[in-house]
Amino acid sequence: MSDPATFGPALDEAVALAGRWLGGTRDERIPPTADIDAVKDALGRELPDRGPLAPEVLQRMAEAIEPGLMRIGSPRFHGWVMGGAQPVSLGADWLVSAWDQNTGLRTVTPGVVAAEELAAAWLTDLLGLPPSAEVGFVTGATVASLVGLVAARDEVLRRAGWDAAERGLAGGPRIRFFVGAERHGSVDSSGLVAGLGRGQVVEADDQGRMRADALRAALAEGSGPAIVCLQAGNIHSGAFDPLGELTDIAHEAGAWVHVDGAFGLWAEAAPGLRHLTAGLERADSWATDAHKTLNVPYDCGIAAVADPEALHRAVAQHAAYLASSDDVADPADRVLELSRRARGVPVYATLAQLGRDGVAGLVQQLADSAQVIAEGIPGIPGAEVLNDVVYTQVCAAFGADERTRAVGAALLADGQALASPSVWHGRAVLRFSVSNWLTDAEEAGRTVAAVRRAVDAAG
Ligand SMILES: *Cc1c(COP(=O)(O)O)cnc(C)c1O
Repeated sequence: MSDPATFGPALDEAVALAGRWLGGTRDERIPPTADIDAVKDALGRELPDRGPLAPEVLQRMAEAIEPGLMRIGSPRFHGWVMGGAQPVSLGADWLVSAWDQNTGLRTVTPGVVAAEELAAAWLTDLLGLPPSAEVGFVTGATVASLVGLVAARDEVLRRAGWDAAERGLAGGPRIRFFVGAERHGSVDSSGLVAGLGRGQVVEADDQGRMRADALRAALAEGSGPAIVCLQAGNIHSGAFDPLGELTDIAHEAGAWVHVDGAFGLWAEAAPGLRHLTAGLERADSWATDAHKTLNVPYDCGIAAVADPEALHRAVAQHAAYLASSDDVADPADRVLELSRRARGVPVYATLAQLGRDGVAGLVQQLADSAQVIAEGIPGIPGAEVLNDVVYTQVCAAFGADERTRAVGAALLADGQALASPSVWHGRAVLRFSVSNWLTDAEEAGRTVAAVRRAVDAAG
């Protein structure tokens, strides 16, 4: 048996290196300065016959890799929708690695399963999900949608008299799969892996919300098993599909409703934003991330399904050697993984610190900071905000497409704030996404100042 003390040098080194890196979070340049080849050269490409001791490996590795790191944790990092990590969540994440629990089965790793089960119950409460809903911890919202969609698939087939567990999918009824025109690409991947094929696209309105009349018409065109995938939080506009209205329309047609709310589902936790998610509790499954809005480290996605039986039938593992609990579902009955890290533990720790009010405050702060950016940008000559800013996303243009791209390049070169270039409704845009716990009104003001500098630099 190894002496636990031998972990000391490696862990002390890791703490020191992490402290040094995190110390630059607020003020260091955001984009990486080294590309992949440069980092590989610095790391050394040859597999050594024998390497140095652990602390030295970590030290050399950090030196080589850090120039290639993106400061996603910066309060002025607004690219994609990426979140950050709070001290309590990072600390809990380190403990998860130190404890190294397998987390598939209640009887085997009761300590971490207890924390995850509490986290799941708290999430169900905070996110306004039905009390019956079961929550599984997965790598991210893409896999959370996959879990929701396989549960949906097998259940709508079962209702149509086809047992997918016994017979597989081939030869069974065709499932109609409906997605919004402005869905996230992960929904397409999840649908493809779930065997649903590419979804039938339902028209969206000017903010990217699925239109109720279009869904009603699409559902009325045919019959048979159906799944409707809705969205809470459009990555360009931040808009929310009218979840309650669309869910009722889908349910009238017998369809299962899955909601991709990777960063948007959290609006439910903030009283001032809860109107955005009205009716979400009537859906059948939900996908969200803890590594975005809640600011726990990657990888932490959340899959929730209202009907536990449908979930278990689709993904549960049963084998004699597993020593499963007979009467209560195991973690492995809710997700596709058996062995996995206890990724729900950082969620527990973060919720234990923030509490109900802290989570509400965090989500509201992100939305308020987005408002500061949305109000600041139109004051810059030639700049405009293209979306109704209802949540955390601001989509800006700076005149013609080439000029918007030039401003984006100048902002990247400036390095003090980062937004991601995209195309929305046929126009080049810069997307500002506020998903980091350190972003507040002051930092959002610094972002606006950086955009102003970039506009000046772009000429
Ligand atoms: C980020 C995102 C996803 C995918 O989430 P991952 O955690 O990256 O798998 C899905 N939908 C939306 C709306 C997102 O923003």
